[in-house]
Amino acid sequence: MLRSTKIVATLGPASSDPAILERMVRAGVDVVRLNFSHGTAQDHEKRAALVREIGRKIGRTVAIMCDLQGPKIRIGKFKDGRITLETGARFTLDAECELGDAGRVGLDYKELPRDVDEGAVLLLDDGKIVLEVTAVRGEEVQTRVRHGGVLSDNKGINRQGGGLTAAALTAKDMEDIRTAAKLHADFLAVSFPKSGADMYMARELMRAAGGKAMLIAKIERAEAVKQDALLSIMGACDGIMVARGDLAVEVGDAAVPALQKRMIRLAREHNKLTITATQMMESMISSPVPTRAEVSDVANAVLDGTDAVMLSAESASGKFPVQTIEAMDRICVEAEQTQSISLDQDFLNRVFSRVDQSIAMGALFTAFHLKVKAIAALTESGATALWMSRLNCGVPIYALTSQTSTRYRCALFRDVYPLMVKYVGHDREELLQEAEKVLVENGVVKQGDLIVLTIGEPIGKAGGTNTMKIVRVGEHLEA
Ligand code: PEP
Repeated sequence: MLRSTKIVATLGPASSDPAILERMVRAGVDVVRLNFSHGTAQDHEKRAALVREIGRKIGRTVAIMCDLQGPKIRIGKFKDGRITLETGARFTLDAECELGDAGRVGLDYKELPRDVDEGAVLLLDDGKIVLEVTAVRGEEVQTRVRHGGVLSDNKGINRQGGGLTAAALTAKDMEDIRTAAKLHADFLAVSFPKSGADMYMARELMRAAGGKAMLIAKIERAEAVKQDALLSIMGACDGIMVARGDLAVEVGDAAVPALQKRMIRLAREHNKLTITATQMMESMISSPVPTRAEVSDVANAVLDGTDAVMLSAESASGKFPVQTIEAMDRICVEAEQTQSISLDQDFLNRVFSRVDQSIAMGALFTAFHLKVKAIAALTESGATALWMSRLNCGVPIYALTSQTSTRYRCALFRDVYPLMVKYVGHDREELLQEAEKVLVENGVVKQGDLIVLTIGEPIGKAGGTNTMKIVRVGEHLEA
């Protein structure tokens, strides 16, 4: 059974053993995430090489996404490593403090005193500790503990409602973009962008480093979900990640489900990709089966239309990385079978003026109404397959390409299955015959099946799709 929704798995200690990683890939990983918040450039390069090797060995296209750390705003360290904060107590965040104690702690983000005022609410350690600012004096942010607990070294700080001015790209991120380009990342995830400008900057840096990665904007700041900012980010990226961890801290957890639906809908309308992330199968870090709530969460993301569902600690440091992917795979497949297809209505809101996009939409419409077995998009850049995959017509889309980088990027597109064509000549008939052969050899279609093919002429030019052909498999080969 083909799975339309893709699985992104974060790599870490639990997935470092080549045998485990191979089992994870066989179980259904489409994209691996290298989390640049941990590990060295060498660690990531080694992991990327191993992923490519395993993909080649078992004949699966597995893409690589590098995820930048971004400006994680953190407290400093304590003399004893941790303290317990009592609710109602006074506590100071002091940019000049070296080693913290029960009354104060330092800040790695020295600008905090300039970013907050009396009344601001600060959430530490993913919201487990809540502090209310009572005064700002010089380099000190004085607070009252609204919700106490254990606080240990270097925990993250978010401000409820957003408003911290830290730039999205740090010096470390700039260096990491060079590493991502060097290891031929297919996707680059940018943490905490506030506007399209942050994404433009990341793209320029990626280009200057010689990389071709598609850019994913992680939506995790309160500022980023405001309509204008979201549209500007959408305009500057290739896809978004609904980064529910930090987002829930900034906007409140209850707001996230509706935001997830809105963002996925908007992204699809703008021909962008979506990844739904964080705590999807959290209990499987230590349990071999998911909770009912997690099953529903994954299924609902599928029904929302996400391109991919993502695993973080579950696959990076959990006890059951392979079982988690197997569970995610079966939940996605089952949810996809129950989703309704309303292509005719979905078309009503589509606006397109490009020739290649018009062919993509025409192919989708035709495939749906003729109930063909497959759509085959002969594509240089993957754009035709991407456009087709923004609407659900219930027919699998095969992206046939001679470009290795295109094959990898298509691994993230919902409903799209990349296949390699070796033909690099310019003869249309020969290319079409090769396409049919590849589809038959991969067991996708058989003699007599009806398929819809799209192709660009002259052959070999990106952005040139201008032809749609309806083919009965075999007739073409016999001709
Ligand atoms: C998130 O906050 O949900 C997220 C995916 O970001 P990270 O895991 O990089 O903190």
